[in-house]
Amino acid sequence: MEAFYTIQGEGYHSGRAAYFIRLGGCDVGCHWCDVKESWNAEDHPLTSIEEIVKMAAAYPAKIVVITGGEPLLYNLKPLTQLFHENGIQTFIETSGAYPLSGDFDWICLSPKKFKEPQESILPHVSELKVVVFNKSDFAWAEQFAAKVAPQARLYLQPEWSKADQITPAIVEYVKNNPKWQISVQTHKYMNIP
Ligand code: SF4
Repeated sequence: MEAFYTIQGEGYHSGRAAYFIRLGGCDVGCHWCDVKESWNAEDHPLTSIEEIVKMAAAYPAKIVVITGGEPLLYNLKPLTQLFHENGIQTFIETSGAYPLSGDFDWICLSPKKFKEPQESILPHVSELKVVVFNKSDFAWAEQFAAKVAPQARLYLQPEWSKADQITPAIVEYVKNNPKWQISVQTHKYMNIP
């Protein structure tokens, strides 16, 4: 759908320069989704993996973040292999709704209630990032925290449109449950993509 060089705004790698690749296509259906234009893959012309890697390699940061849409709708093995052959690290942001494919240096799972993640991805998760829309999401987040690998980093992130209302509850939750950290969408404050 699009690709752009920017700063990762969220989660463990927040603040780092990275090349973002947004794949078209998603059927998860989050009502608060901020990239609904990504949902229909047919709206977005195909780009060869060679072209994608060539564009990414032109930038100084040797990190790509593959996001969507839901990137695991596709077999990501050929794309991630080609990145690695070019000395570029591969990170993914996924809901986990489809089977994991590809070779990744960092896997950020952001599970969605609308289409729950596949159990098979849970042992491979580097970072669990749960978007919090209301207080019931804390219990939901804990279900996944109990199932991911013990070394996975745990983040609670306020849903952007609800941030003013829900952030105080997240602050209190993390103070009481310090295995979690807070992730905020810093790119939105910086007005960058
Ligand atoms: S999984 Fe991501 S792209 Fe898909 S609907 Fe939810 S927020 Fe939007």
